[in-house]
Amino acid sequence: DAALSASEAANGALNAFSSFDADKTMAMARASDDRLAKGEGGLIEGAPIAMKDLFAVEGVETAASSNILKGFKPTYESTVSAKLWEAGGVFLGKTSMDEFAMGSSNETSNQGPAVNPWRTGDAKLTPGGSSGGSAAAVAADLCFGATGTDTGGSIRQPAAFTGTVGVKGTYGRCSRWGAVAFASSLDHPGPIAKTVRDAAVLMQAMSGHDPKESTSLPNAVPDFAAAAERAVKGMRIGVPKEYRMDGMPEEIETLWSQGVDMLKDAGCEIVDVSLPHTKYALPTYYIIAPAEASSNLARYDGMRYGNRVEGKDLTDTYEQTRAAGFGKEVQRRILIGTYVLSAGYYDAYYLRALKVRRRILEDFKTAFEQCDALLTPSTPSAAFEIGSRSNDPIAMYLNDIFTVTANIAGIPAMSVPVGLDKDGLPLGLQVITPALDEESMFAVGAALE
Ligand code: GLN
Repeated sequence: DAALSASEAANGALNAFSSFDADKTMAMARASDDRLAKGEGGLIEGAPIAMKDLFAVEGVETAASSNILKGFKPTYESTVSAKLWEAGGVFLGKTSMDEFAMGSSNETSNQGPAVNPWRTGDAKLTPGGSSGGSAAAVAADLCFGATGTDTGGSIRQPAAFTGTVGVKGTYGRCSRWGAVAFASSLDHPGPIAKTVRDAAVLMQAMSGHDPKESTSLPNAVPDFAAAAERAVKGMRIGVPKEYRMDGMPEEIETLWSQGVDMLKDAGCEIVDVSLPHTKYALPTYYIIAPAEASSNLARYDGMRYGNRVEGKDLTDTYEQTRAAGFGKEVQRRILIGTYVLSAGYYDAYYLRALKVRRRILEDFKTAFEQCDALLTPSTPSAAFEIGSRSNDPIAMYLNDIFTVTANIAGIPAMSVPVGLDKDGLPLGLQVITPALDEESMFAVGAALE
């Protein structure tokens, strides 16, 4: 009850939630009280959880912050949310996001941008995106944790901008079933929380094999919370030289060295490694992600889901529905995606991108022969002002420079808040580990707290 009224009160300033469902919330809270009274609590019994508007919650509007889905109430529950409720989590509300998870600032949401609770002066800062509403809600202390999805950085970048912890596991660790698809081969559900241990507990509750999802991993889920307590002494930490970009702000360099020192003090060995294809990661991502998005978003035709604008014939209905329902950024992605997949350009762009994707994956494999985890900055800057990049898609895309590689390779990565910039805004460092080794990621992450 307290979390619900605090969230409702804070939402005027933060614009982080898209809806609250008090009836459902209170029913779940009462059930949790009963279980706790009987000593039968689950892993996160009674903990209020905010759900990114990308996850289907039965009977609750699930619109991916898009007008085309406004009012759509699924008759089913996503696997990730079902697992969280099974573990005792209490649904607090849906959080705003960039439309269909396309963006890095939450500004493409159909309800306008969420606001970062961190401030300097009068400027309103973005909480990052696309899981910006979730990150803002966690940073403002309105919930125990929130769900996000990370296709190219959408959990880790908002976590870095809001001083929270954001995690994505190995591709397939958390089921995508019932989560609105953006780019299926890159989409990773995961948690945002206040500490590494909280994030580990949430990740554990969200993970596990799902027979309904063809890319879901069959592997048993390790004890992530225990991993967060593990000593890191003797671990080899790789510092990839290609992440030292030209023009990187000095404070990011300083933060990175600070992280290196923290891990050295904890008994880690630091090794220099190379990921030579890093410079191709952003172009590769911005070919593969729109290609898959253009295909995934073809289903929104006004017939099966969401809203319809009635036209003079079927084709006109499709066109008008999609023109009215999709925002500008989503339309841009569909255009790029259909272009790179079109017969004349498929080989030059899409196929080439798939080949580079393989190279990037091999880079990581080679690097992990020399180290157990990689340490890099999470973002090239702290949170920026709302509106400052919204008319410059390239500047916006450049924000994902450190995060997209782990999606391309499908490997675990997290952002941990490690320091503040000159204006007192949070900055994060990223820990990346080999596929299926989330445990090392949590151990190293906890050593950076
Ligand atoms: N910012 C990236 C994009 O716009 C990543 C988004 C995401 O991870 N969902 O595509």
